[in-house]
Amino acid sequence: SKIVDAVKALDPTKPYFSYEFFPPKTTSGTENLYARIERMATFKPMFVAVTWGAGGSTAEKSLALAAACRNQAGLDVCLHLTCTNMDKEILDSALTQAREHNVKNILALRGDPPRGEEYWSSSSNEFHHAVDLVKYIKKTHGDFFCIGVAGYPEGHVDGVDTSGQDALKDIPFLVEKVRAGADFIITQVCYDTSKLIAWEKALREHESGVFNDILILPGLMPINTYQSFLRTAKLSHASIPSELLAKLDEIPVGDDDKVKQLGVEVLINMISDIFEKTERRVRGFHFYTLNLEKSVALVLEKSKVLALSRNELTSLPDASGPAKKT
Ligand code: FAD
Repeated sequence: SKIVDAVKALDPTKPYFSYEFFPPKTTSGTENLYARIERMATFKPMFVAVTWGAGGSTAEKSLALAAACRNQAGLDVCLHLTCTNMDKEILDSALTQAREHNVKNILALRGDPPRGEEYWSSSSNEFHHAVDLVKYIKKTHGDFFCIGVAGYPEGHVDGVDTSGQDALKDIPFLVEKVRAGADFIITQVCYDTSKLIAWEKALREHESGVFNDILILPGLMPINTYQSFLRTAKLSHASIPSELLAKLDEIPVGDDDKVKQLGVEVLINMISDIFEKTERRVRGFHFYTLNLEKSVALVLEKSKVLALSRNELTSLPDASGPAKKT
């Protein structure tokens, strides 16, 4: 079903979560991933998101993965789609196939050009920004799809070379995307909860009013190794809180298990911080799984907030600890 409808049907105090997967390059990789998705489905995610290679480079594989998640694993799916550096026929075909597979959610993105190359729009010159794709989906498919868009709590990287990364600078464009028909926002990976919480507040208080009730899902990425973590943070221009860096630096070089363990704790704390401090306005959490299972499964098993989503807890223990006897 549509993500907005599924969330509406949920108890308003309950959290939920989703996974993101990318289509593997090889057949054996795909088989392994399908088996993993079936195991991870037992935690009952609200939906799974399937990425789309910029320029349509993974079109066939993304659609096959989306169809398998939907039809074999019985999960609701959100298919990512980009709109630049790609012929419109690929886009049209992807939307038609998504409909055929009953994939009702699309994350509408601009996409990035291949490294070192310039942007080009499709022959119709219709697509420059993600908002153009949101409008196009609405125009061609009405309300069939529930549409999501990307949000940047620390600002989009395009600003880095010019005026500097600035979350507030992007907000008018996010307003446009929502006005054009977006129903939910998934954020860029973020490790600094205070920035995410401040950004959410700015959106809710925005004079346009378009963000009052919109679903916002923070994008959370497990920390797998020290090097891959630093690389991802750099690529996505996510700042790393100094306390987190200090804790990572205490771990002996090469002890990946400890790094992963710390990453699990970090995500658990981020989830409870965001859930509490936004007074549960943010209650959907999106895991960038990188097609890996272990860390996400540990977060799901250990997070008290997410145990609520599976009805394993009826309420959260008081954060201030057990009530003192008087
Ligand atoms: P836009 O919303 O178009 O914004 C891009 C830039 O243009 C921003 O700096 C914005 O401020 C500016 N801008 C927006 N509208 C206007 C306007 N009207 N006038 C002037 N400036 C404007 N990429 C993939 O290739 N495949 C994926 O599957 C994928 N999944 C992603 C999932 C998430 C949750 C996120 C956060 C990103 C994902 N990306 C993916 C990366 C994404 O394609 C890039 O971040 C891209 O650079 C921007 O996409 P966007 O949809 O945010 O673009």
